[in-house]
Amino acid sequence: MTIEKTDIKSMNQAELQQFLEQMGQPRFRTGQVFGWLQKGVKTFDEMTNIPTGLKEKLVESCYISHAAIEKKLISAYDSTVKYLFSFADGETVESVVMQYHHGYTSCVSTQVGCKMGCDFCATGKSGFRRNLTASEILSQIQTEQADNGIRISNVVLMGMGEPLDNYDNVLRFLELVSCENGLNIGMRHISLSTCGIVPRIYDLAERKLQLTLSVSLHAPNDEIRSRTMPVNKRYPIAELLKACRYYAEKTGRRISFEYAMIDGVNDSDACARELAGRLHGMLAHVNLIPVNSVSGSHYRKSRSDRLKSFVAIMEKAGITATVRRTLGSDINASCGQLRSSAAVSTAAKGENTG
Ligand code: SAH
Ligand code: SF4
Repeated sequence: MTIEKTDIKSMNQAELQQFLEQMGQPRFRTGQVFGWLQKGVKTFDEMTNIPTGLKEKLVESCYISHAAIEKKLISAYDSTVKYLFSFADGETVESVVMQYHHGYTSCVSTQVGCKMGCDFCATGKSGFRRNLTASEILSQIQTEQADNGIRISNVVLMGMGEPLDNYDNVLRFLELVSCENGLNIGMRHISLSTCGIVPRIYDLAERKLQLTLSVSLHAPNDEIRSRTMPVNKRYPIAELLKACRYYAEKTGRRISFEYAMIDGVNDSDACARELAGRLHGMLAHVNLIPVNSVSGSHYRKSRSDRLKSFVAIMEKAGITATVRRTLGSDINASCGQLRSSAAVSTAAKGENTG
């Protein structure tokens, strides 16, 4: 019989304390072990101030998850670095490090694949494999810091997967990553992006976290949104925006609406006016992103005059709108693309990548 090992890096300090106390350890061990895990050690052997007896017990009962670098691409245009990471079971996810004037931002994945099936998204097209654990989300940042010799100051949960479809693990990750004795990345430096899982937006509002909630809206009405984002059939725009208003009121935080501009689909002046009407009076900001073409999708980027016109209409209506700078455009920095191409190349070698 195999006994399932404990994911020790997903434990918060209180849980770790309880766990170690049950092993007969003094209280001060918690800080030591927690500190090593947060530093990103891969083995218990590296915990130099921990007695051998305890290390042996930990090896028997626990594992330390780690994000191993499978592939790495560095943009020739800017210093964006894109990774394909693998975990112990061989599943892979993407993550990107971007350099801005205020420091380094990591874009992490929260699931292997995604169930939501958005039509314009490479991850959505690849299907769903499994949720990531809190420690696997954290490990992406740890590996990036170590590989580049940098400190990541900002985190966006905008990689592969839908964070609110992995709610418990994502909240656990948020607790760990913002912990003073860990990476200590404050909530104000974290953005969570969702396609709009309405009940979880209400749950999150109750937590009153100081993170930025990004909502992937991408359409001003149900007709267009349901065509590109199946989740809209479950949670239509009116319900989603009601939850967003509640969230903004409860937390006092401005919501960032993501809007991928798709040529001829959602980028008309009429769409801009309809969107402005919908967001009227809300603590909101609109981020326009020229859609990235992915293989198997017929969507094309909007023309630049469409972007300008859209921004002008939003601003006239009193809603701030910006066009997001695209980084790493030569390395397919939008998530899902590197993993898809890796799956194709390993499949060609006759290996089973799942
Ligand atoms: N599942 C979450 C977070 C991951 S996707 C969500 O959907 O919000 C991160 C962002 O990338 C989302 O705003 C998503 O809509 C956007 N996105 C996905 N594919 C894209 C593409 N081809 N071009 C531009 N943005 C894209
Ligand atoms: Fe999933 Fe987000 Fe991609 Fe939609 S856009 S399929 S929710 S990762």
